[in-house]
Amino acid sequence: GQSEQETLFDINTEVARYFSNNLLNDDEGQIAREYFQKRNIKVQTMRAFGLGYALNGWENLVSFLKQKNIDLEKALQLGLIGRNKDGRVYDKLAGRIIFPIFSPNGRVVAFAGRKLREDDTGAKYINSPESIIYVKGRVLYGLSFAKDEIRKLDKAIIVEGYMDLISLYQAGIKNVVAVSGTALTDEQAQLLSRYTKNVVLLFDADTAGIAASMRSIEILLRKDFDVKIATLPAGEDPDSFVNKYGKEEFEETIKRAENFLEYQTAYFEKQGMFVDPTKAAEAIRELVKPIAIIDDELKRNILIKAISKKFNLREKLLEKELEKALEQEK
Ligand code: ATP
Ligand code: MN
Ligand code: MN
Ligand code: MN
Repeated sequence: GQSEQETLFDINTEVARYFSNNLLNDDEGQIAREYFQKRNIKVQTMRAFGLGYALNGWENLVSFLKQKNIDLEKALQLGLIGRNKDGRVYDKLAGRIIFPIFSPNGRVVAFAGRKLREDDTGAKYINSPESIIYVKGRVLYGLSFAKDEIRKLDKAIIVEGYMDLISLYQAGIKNVVAVSGTALTDEQAQLLSRYTKNVVLLFDADTAGIAASMRSIEILLRKDFDVKIATLPAGEDPDSFVNKYGKEEFEETIKRAENFLEYQTAYFEKQGMFVDPTKAAEAIRELVKPIAIIDDELKRNILIKAISKKFNLREKLLEKELEKALEQEK
């Protein structure tokens, strides 16, 4: 017989086909087709990413599963359906548009469902729970679509969201992966490092996005990545930006990406860290810390020199700070 994993992949594949058919062909799917149209997503793109729609109601998917003789226990395990106190099973993603989440080889490991209207109840996105085929921190959304282009260009752009990746792909920018909300994990960085060692972080221009960038820098440096950070105008994300300004402007934004040191310096400056000496010293130490993560001594030296020049501080002094940070790293 086939392995437990294979069975779960097969169920997800069938369910993805079902969701996709709802979107493309069902009468009720009209509302989801209009949603994607409003967001400038073409039918061809819906097909390419296997986008779907979960019909509204308690047991549309449940009926489909029964009709296909799919083990409901397994569907429960995959989080496609839930079971309430009196034992009845129900659809979990009902009334949502669906993003299948693929493994690097293009197998469906999970689903994300987005609500159609901002004022619908529940979280904006609901994800499948973890299962034996889905460990959230090990998946990069879009990698199966992007991996060849990432290898070819030897560079990856990391974005936050599903729609960011899909809109960029549709615009012809295909070396993109999405972390899907959480900050980048060690395992995601490890996975990506199979394809390139050069990344541009392009998170949303909001507080959460900035915080996620700052946290991701360290994780990437530890895996020996060359890290750049690109910045969008306030309030934009890559999806809204590329739809508003187009591909060329987007590419300019990527070209203007700063190295992590410039980015962090600008961030501390914006926070007013360099107005008093105590905070300034703290900021300088924070700038030196990630440098200690870098393996290449020459690179470390170049970055230390850059800080020395920028803040008019003696290199010897900064080297001492670096030594301390290196001790901490050990
Ligand atoms: P949209 O453009 O449809 O609003 P988005 O991707 O811009 O989507 P963000 O709020 O910026 O949405 O969130 C970024 C990503 O974080 C989402 O694409 C999704 O992967 C993840 N995310 C956001 N909210 C949730 C949530 N409530 N639960 C799980 N994941 C979420
Ligand atoms: Mn965001
Ligand atoms: Mn968005
Ligand atoms: Mn966003």
